[in-house]
Amino acid sequence: MTVDDSMIKDIIQTVVAKMQLEETSMNGHGVFHDMGDAIEAARKAQKILRKMSMDQREKIIIRIREKTLEHAEILARMGVEETGMGNVGHKILKHRLVAEKTPGTEDITTTAWSGDRGLTLTEMGAFGVIGAITPCTNPSETIICNTIGMLAGGNSVVFNPHPAACRTSLYAVNLLNEASLEAGGPDYIACTIEKPTLESSNSMMKHKEIQLIVATGGPGVVTAVLSSGKRGIGAGAGNPPALVDETADIKKAAQDIVNGCTFDNNLPCIAEKEVVVVREAADSLIRYMIEEQGCYFASAGEVDKLESLVLQAGKLNRNCVGRDAGTLLDMIGVSVQDNIRCIIFEGNKEHPLIQEELMMPILGIVRAADFEDAVEKAVWLEKGNRHSAFIHSKNIDNITKYAKAIDTAILVKNAPSYAALGFGGEGFCTFTIASRTGEGLTSASTFTKRRRCVMSDSLCIR
Ligand code: NAD
Repeated sequence: MTVDDSMIKDIIQTVVAKMQLEETSMNGHGVFHDMGDAIEAARKAQKILRKMSMDQREKIIIRIREKTLEHAEILARMGVEETGMGNVGHKILKHRLVAEKTPGTEDITTTAWSGDRGLTLTEMGAFGVIGAITPCTNPSETIICNTIGMLAGGNSVVFNPHPAACRTSLYAVNLLNEASLEAGGPDYIACTIEKPTLESSNSMMKHKEIQLIVATGGPGVVTAVLSSGKRGIGAGAGNPPALVDETADIKKAAQDIVNGCTFDNNLPCIAEKEVVVVREAADSLIRYMIEEQGCYFASAGEVDKLESLVLQAGKLNRNCVGRDAGTLLDMIGVSVQDNIRCIIFEGNKEHPLIQEELMMPILGIVRAADFEDAVEKAVWLEKGNRHSAFIHSKNIDNITKYAKAIDTAILVKNAPSYAALGFGGEGFCTFTIASRTGEGLTSASTFTKRRRCVMSDSLCIR
């Protein structure tokens, strides 16, 4: 094996990421030992933010965007190194997306009614200190994206990050406060604690200063937040199906589905988790996936082995989450070439590897008798999460029927799932999709409360 420049750069960057993980600690801006202290610091920062103009808030956000771009690679490497999940190149793209496409203060708008009886405004006001709980699958992406939106709305934020991604999260919090200070803002716009736990999460939710809780994660955390007695925004789990009908451009559908499914090793909650394809299109879809998209078609015996590996006693084996296809196959004793990026197999919708949200590039394919049957199966697989779904079809009647039946926060047509995040599609970026509580794709305006401001019988100058 010869060592070239890119390999040397890769080794150096990995070592730097490891060193950063070891060094990231209590010394960072906004990192506290105690949750109460973190909330108090964020409360003081929010008092300063309240007095700042929108223009000043936007200056901090601009600096956050710049710093996120500057640190995209180190954050990506730290995330992969710490959690063992995901793909560095894709995580760099995710950080760039957050930096470039997360809405800032332009999302904070005023609605006005002007008429004979005067002028009435509805304005978007800050909640104060927001409590946010973040996942290990997109740790720093979520923390930076949430902070941009929350700050644009005039809030500060306290994070209880996933313990498995704690150091990457602490590093991101420090970066956010550095950006604020560099742009003339206060320290502690984002705070967290050195060792987040379920207890610290609960104490955050109960704290009197926290009026809004934003939870991004699986069903457990969303249920906990919705039981807290406070206003909660719940961005919960998904199991997004991709439906393919006979009118689709099958070659493109194969490419889009595999690209979406393998992005960051299938960690995004929106990524394609299974395929439902009408019988007429199934053979050619599978052929394109194998011949042109680097898919490995697993035999029945290999699928059984994968099931025993991935689902142990019915529980998801976290050692498999976010791993690439080659590593997963290696774990069951199958060695493949480097170009294999996704494992596919055929099965019934009830197959555990199809109906469970796996977050790894294993893509079960379900055949349907016709379009109606495909819709029924896809809706069943989405499990009422109302999160995300995809369709590859040129029949607008079919697309409309599917959209109504599946009723998800996101429906992407004829593109990879990540088009929903503004990556290869129009629209803004978010890593908190409030499927369960109905806000959908969150942005700055989601993190504000509405206030009506009425001037009776004056200021109408029409
Ligand atoms: P997870 O549910 O294990 O953890 C998420 C966060 O919740 C962590 O900070 C964790 O410590 C905390 N948590 C878990 N149970 C809790 C409880 N009972 N009380 C308080 N806090 C609790 O999820 P994960 O593995 O980090 O992330 C993957 C899951 O999150 C998937 O199900 C994925 O679909 C979902 N997700 C959803 C979105 C979205 O925008 N809807 C985005 C990313 C991830």
